[in-house]
Amino acid sequence: MKQVTLPDGHIVPALGQGTWYMGDDRSKRSEEIATLRRGIELGMTLVDTAEMYGGGRSEQLVGEAIKDVRDQVFLVDKVLPSNASSKGTITACERSLRNLQTDHIDLYLLHWSGSYRYEETFKAFETLKQQGKIARWGVSNMDPGEMDEILATPQGDQCMVNQVLYNLTRRGIEFDLLPMCREDGIPLMAYSPVEQSRLLRHKGVKDIAAKLGITAAQLALAWVLRQEDVIAIPKASRVAHVEDNFGAADLELSPETLKELDHLFPAPTRSRPLEIL
Ligand code: NAP
Repeated sequence: MKQVTLPDGHIVPALGQGTWYMGDDRSKRSEEIATLRRGIELGMTLVDTAEMYGGGRSEQLVGEAIKDVRDQVFLVDKVLPSNASSKGTITACERSLRNLQTDHIDLYLLHWSGSYRYEETFKAFETLKQQGKIARWGVSNMDPGEMDEILATPQGDQCMVNQVLYNLTRRGIEFDLLPMCREDGIPLMAYSPVEQSRLLRHKGVKDIAAKLGITAAQLALAWVLRQEDVIAIPKASRVAHVEDNFGAADLELSPETLKELDHLFPAPTRSRPLEIL
């Protein structure tokens, strides 16, 4: 399994698991839990959730799935910007901990920029760190201007990741955000790495994958993981899918394959607004 080192020296698996929409449908619950547990068993121990997902239902499902393997899991959660005041951040985190049935979150992210000043949110994050309720914190959906502001904010140097939309069809960040974060030593966490499954139906992706004897999902994920400071968090709610995704964990793509993919999905040549989903 490829690994990524966070700015505080903590090492996490480069391939994790997303959970958006998991926990919403009771009839899928046992399979979703089995899928998360299978992923953890395989080494995809970084699990990403958010208080926003299903209004806490995803956190509750994650809590149930990991309760007897909590110490093996690197748990990522996110506070909504509307809750990210000095008091609201603490209350939201405590509510998330109850949903997750755990006493700490390994990485707590500000989901996107809202109306509260970063200074206020970061101070609350640092309080949560002192209380042992979170181990570290980061941000999500931040563009280069926002990252500049974050790094200029007191405690901003404690930011451990920026979680953003990144996959073959969403390469905009390669022009500015990715090199900038790289220079500041902040890894990126790529969300929707298979473009919510749309990439898996792309004829060009399917053809290249077939030629290589791998699946389209493995090709798309291996492409995201070709860089040593990028984490991918595909969401799978079926065991077969998580097992398939695991096949990308140590897959290296050849320069020829990367060239073919560049031809189908050209790298950006100018700055573009950060895309979000
Ligand atoms: P995604 O991971 O790109 O795609 C998920 C979809 O792909 C699901 O429909 C899943 O199907 C399917 N899939 C996954 N692996 C597959 C495989 N091997 N074969 C066939 N189909 C496969 O999209 P996402 O859920 O939007 O993004 C991933 C995670 O990133 C989220 O779950 C969430 O944790 C996080 N996220 C964060 C933000 C943010 O603002 N920070 C925004 C979006 C997402 P099944 O479910 O049927 O297995």
